[in-house]
Amino acid sequence: MTKEYDLVVLGGGTGGYVAAIRAAQLGMQVAIVEANKLGGTCLHRGCIPSKALLRSAEVFKQSKEAKEFGVDVKDVTLNFSAVQKRKNGIVNTLHQGVQGLMKKGKIDVFEGFGRILGPSIFSPMPGTISIEYANGDENTMIVPKNVLIATGSKPRTLPGLEIDGKYVLTSDEALEMNELPHSIIIVGGGVIGIEWASMLADFGVEVTVLEYLDQILPTEDEAIAREAKRLLKKKGVKIHTGAKVISDSLKTGETVEIKAEMKKGEKIFQAEKMLVSVGREANSDNIGLQNTDIQTEKGYIQTNEFYQTKESHIYAIGDVIGGMQLAHVASHEGIIAVEHMANQNPTPLDYTKIASCIYSNPEAASVGLTEKQALEQGYEIKVGKFSFKAIGKALVHGDSDGFVKIIADKKTEDILGIHMIGPHVTDMISEAGLAMVLDATPWEIAGTVHPHPSLSEIMGEAALAVDGNQIHG
Ligand code: NAD
Repeated sequence: MTKEYDLVVLGGGTGGYVAAIRAAQLGMQVAIVEANKLGGTCLHRGCIPSKALLRSAEVFKQSKEAKEFGVDVKDVTLNFSAVQKRKNGIVNTLHQGVQGLMKKGKIDVFEGFGRILGPSIFSPMPGTISIEYANGDENTMIVPKNVLIATGSKPRTLPGLEIDGKYVLTSDEALEMNELPHSIIIVGGGVIGIEWASMLADFGVEVTVLEYLDQILPTEDEAIAREAKRLLKKKGVKIHTGAKVISDSLKTGETVEIKAEMKKGEKIFQAEKMLVSVGREANSDNIGLQNTDIQTEKGYIQTNEFYQTKESHIYAIGDVIGGMQLAHVASHEGIIAVEHMANQNPTPLDYTKIASCIYSNPEAASVGLTEKQALEQGYEIKVGKFSFKAIGKALVHGDSDGFVKIIADKKTEDILGIHMIGPHVTDMISEAGLAMVLDATPWEIAGTVHPHPSLSEIMGEAALAVDGNQIHG
């Protein structure tokens, strides 16, 4: 069977399915080829399930601390299978939602593994996609005018740290745990490592983080990473930075044991399980790139600003092209790619104005340059910082740790970066993102009347603090 399409999307994750919907809106005949489940990593193995677990951990912790609010709660216990059931329910609801959207957009979904067979003089039919089905059914061939590769990424590990799914896990396996371990070593203190450290500590697990660099959350502003470390330590997480894990020293049995080279010599760490969160790698193997002129670097597909590869009708977006490996980035890249195919003249993304979020407790979020990056790029800066301690709503909320930091260019007043740690900052960062997209100055943020009492007042105060004019601090 051979079918023809205007667009075939390889990978039905957040990047791929959003692109497919936009293409259908633009009148294209679209198909998605998905090897697992529509919704991809974000919906099934990433953002959504992990945030559902984080929320349960937060409720568990808050229930234990309810006395502070004058609420006596007796015998707070955790029913982890109910936690998992809730998580799976949320994922299933959203999965059905995505399937419904495909039907609405009349997008054909092929549940199999897609490969590009061309263009190449060796391919049987230039531009053809073959689909291999897990149940051994015969290959289907589809012929698209355009292809969008949105195959995402998978967790990477270190040589010697074999993921056995029992003792040594990535976030993929950790999400499916039936019960919580008493203790865990987390290798890698980046976004995944810190979200899991926070969640597991709130669930009552003994957590040790081993981070290779001198700073956890190395891509965040130093002040944010320092505050995150302080607050995680306060909840009992043991954090070792500058810890070079000797991966071939791994021993598994009753427990997991690993050595790490520390500043003061080697140290042995032991726990019931280990989570490896040292980054992700592109899913670009085995999808037929060898049949094309598409170029990769360390597995990541190279594209131009409209996500076109060296084959002008084959585009690639999302984690498989590297850069900011975030669901919201992938979906915006997908929309731009599809609009470019449809000659809609889209504006390229400005990656310096895209917010990123860490859903630990406390949350952290940022957009733009860190203080260090701004100085390295030669800017003369001024910095406004304001603490949640002086925000009434934060005290009412019972969570006043953290702050907002705004970095501005002394000469032009342009905002260079906004960094936050504290309650609900993953929601509040959107104001910062919008301010940057609209080229607002701190003065304009401060002049925006923020409702009282609200957590968002901290934005106005931090903006005033850029020139030392904050009211409550
Ligand atoms: P990451 O790159 O954020 O962090 C990996 C960490 O591991 C780094 O701090 C690195 O220094 C450390 N590391 C590397 N080798 C090590 C070693 N040998 N020993 C000890 N530490 C080592 O990667 P991640 O946390 O695995 O996340 C992967 C991707 O998924 C990231 O791009 C992230 O942005 C994305 N993600 C985003 C969210 C979110 O938006 N909230 C959540 C989860 C994941």
